[in-house]
Amino acid sequence: MNYTLKLLLLFLIVLSGCQTKEPVKKEWAIALHGGAGNMDKSQFSEEDIRLYEAGLQQALDLGKNALKDGKAAVDVVELVVQNLEDNPLFNAGKGSVFTNDGRNELDAAIMDGRNLNAGAVAGVGDIKNPVSAARLVMEKSPHVLLIGKGASVYALQNNIEMVDSSYFYTEKRWQTLQRALQNAGKNGTVGCVALDSEGNLAAATSTGGMNNKRYGRVGDVPIIGAGTYANNNTCAVSATGHGEFFIRYTVAHDISALIEYKGYTIAEAATAVVNGKLSNEAGNGGVIGVNKYGNVTLAMNSTGMFRAWADANGDEGVAIFKE
Ligand code: ASP
Repeated sequence: MNYTLKLLLLFLIVLSGCQTKEPVKKEWAIALHGGAGNMDKSQFSEEDIRLYEAGLQQALDLGKNALKDGKAAVDVVELVVQNLEDNPLFNAGKGSVFTNDGRNELDAAIMDGRNLNAGAVAGVGDIKNPVSAARLVMEKSPHVLLIGKGASVYALQNNIEMVDSSYFYTEKRWQTLQRALQNAGKNGTVGCVALDSEGNLAAATSTGGMNNKRYGRVGDVPIIGAGTYANNNTCAVSATGHGEFFIRYTVAHDISALIEYKGYTIAEAATAVVNGKLSNEAGNGGVIGVNKYGNVTLAMNSTGMFRAWADANGDEGVAIFKE
């Protein structure tokens, strides 16, 4: 082989080594979910589908516009999750499911990928937007997770909007409990992940929990690393599904770890966890994720997940059922 040919070969080898699997960074990206579960299209009327899609689109537009305006990822995920909490269609905030003994006990978390700051509340029944109480815990307290009465008192002292517990009563969820007292329940939750134009990642998740859960039960949502995680070096993840399994498999952090230690793409990491580990168990559900390049993943092992996504390159969509 002559010298020039050798040089060319060397150049090509070096070049291929330099190519990462995800080379182009998008200016911003966002994904959100409104819960996953085994749902069949036939269970929904056309009007139901239209309402869910409109709710997802509204939350997506809110997040997209905020990112385009240069808002920080942590502000965007809070804003979007607040909007989904206020929408009674989704199992978080207004619209939360009931515990076995007829209460509403809400969980929420938020995490800032810049500095691994995180905050969460669990088992609260009088805070209008639990995600904002989670942010308060993250920013104003030296703690990560506050529960029940202590979380409510802290929120009240810091001017977070409080409501009477009857605010969370919706007829639809009450009837779901009545049905579930005979059968098993289904999943719900809301969440958002975002990459902002400064390259920062954030995640937030909020839920009424599992329908018919035991009073006092806490799910994966407020457990950092289980249902919620964000790290600028890897990705931001928000999960939805059967929380006990998401806690045992530390799902959100596991996805981040596969990226950090094994160099997986976000899609490979999410699939390995959601369609591998989790689906081998009864861990029904899904995740949304975005990595530091702005690549979004929407992975599920159930037949549906209310979801929406967008990025600065114009990829955008809203979907409910598994394609
Ligand atoms: N993961 C939530 C929980 O276990 C419920 C859900 O996402 O449907 O509390």
